[in-house]
Amino acid sequence: MLRVEDLRVYYKTLSGYVRAVDGVTFTLSKGEILGIAGESGSGKSTLVNYIILPKPPMVRIAGSIVYRGIDLTSITPGELSKIRYTGISIVPQYAMDALSPTKRIRAIIRDLTRGRAEGDIEEKARERLRMVGLPGDVLDRYPIELSGGMRQRVVLVISTLLDPDVLIADEVTSALDVTMQRAVLEMLASFRDTGIVRSIILVSHDIAALYQVADRIMIMYAGKISEIGPAEEVIGDPLHPYTRALIDSVPRLGVRYKTRRLTGLKGEPPRLASPPTGCRFHPRCSVAEERCRAREPPPARVGKRTVYCWLYTGG
Ligand code: ATP
Ligand code: SF4
Repeated sequence: MLRVEDLRVYYKTLSGYVRAVDGVTFTLSKGEILGIAGESGSGKSTLVNYIILPKPPMVRIAGSIVYRGIDLTSITPGELSKIRYTGISIVPQYAMDALSPTKRIRAIIRDLTRGRAEGDIEEKARERLRMVGLPGDVLDRYPIELSGGMRQRVVLVISTLLDPDVLIADEVTSALDVTMQRAVLEMLASFRDTGIVRSIILVSHDIAALYQVADRIMIMYAGKISEIGPAEEVIGDPLHPYTRALIDSVPRLGVRYKTRRLTGLKGEPPRLASPPTGCRFHPRCSVAEERCRAREPPPARVGKRTVYCWLYTGG
């Protein structure tokens, strides 16, 4: 469905490049929900925004993003915008707060789907709103008249009205209370299960929320992947020291490791304008070795997982 290969996306700033996404490779399969987790500033939003909403000061240094055989990095902005909503749709962070306050939901839908929709889009919107437990008269309301949970569901309905192959949802549950979080996660899973979308990329710093719906989980640290694999395995038996520390810091998950437990997550993530040499996690890693400081770990395959850590390279 989607293949991202060695993607490097930096921000150009007056003091040099910020290496926000630095050599990220993964695939998204048909029917899959891929969760992306990691601390604030690990590059999650930059990665998913660049896929379908690239804009300055983001600069692609290397890599490709292949969707249905097309490298999205080599097409024009006009061609990319044709794929947006119909092929790959994104709900960026804070989208529910960015709805135009002066327009009713009906007008917002009309603006976004103009020239792209077939059939009666309003009837379709009404039907989808009903599916997610909202009355059809939401179309007549202004965003300000809706609660946060209602607004987030409306945004997700609008973003999927044209039945995209891929939905990218960035922190769509973080501003909601626990009950509403669950409702939104269930809604996303039902979109996949009923074929409204084929695959979903769900970004969240809340690993427990991802665990509820994701088939696979990808953990990012300082612009790179630390570990990616089936959700049960990544959460239940994390391999990368960063994943372990991250999961250890979430008591809700109640994980019992098969091997020695590491202690919490100490220290701060590095500044990505001048990241550490070798493994970027080495200054915080309690089991770092000399080679970790000197050289970047290559990807190591462990069962269905890929882990970026010298401990698993077999060398
Ligand atoms: P969060 O969960 O807080 O959204 P994130 O994991 O999504 O974090 P990004 O927002 O992608 O991370 O940020 C990755 C890095 O890029 C951070 O170091 C951030 O400071 C930097 N960054 C983001 N936007 C810009 C920008 N416009 N100019 C310069 N640096 C930026
Ligand atoms: Fe720790 Fe080394 Fe693995 Fe990095 S490569 S996580 S520093 S053991």
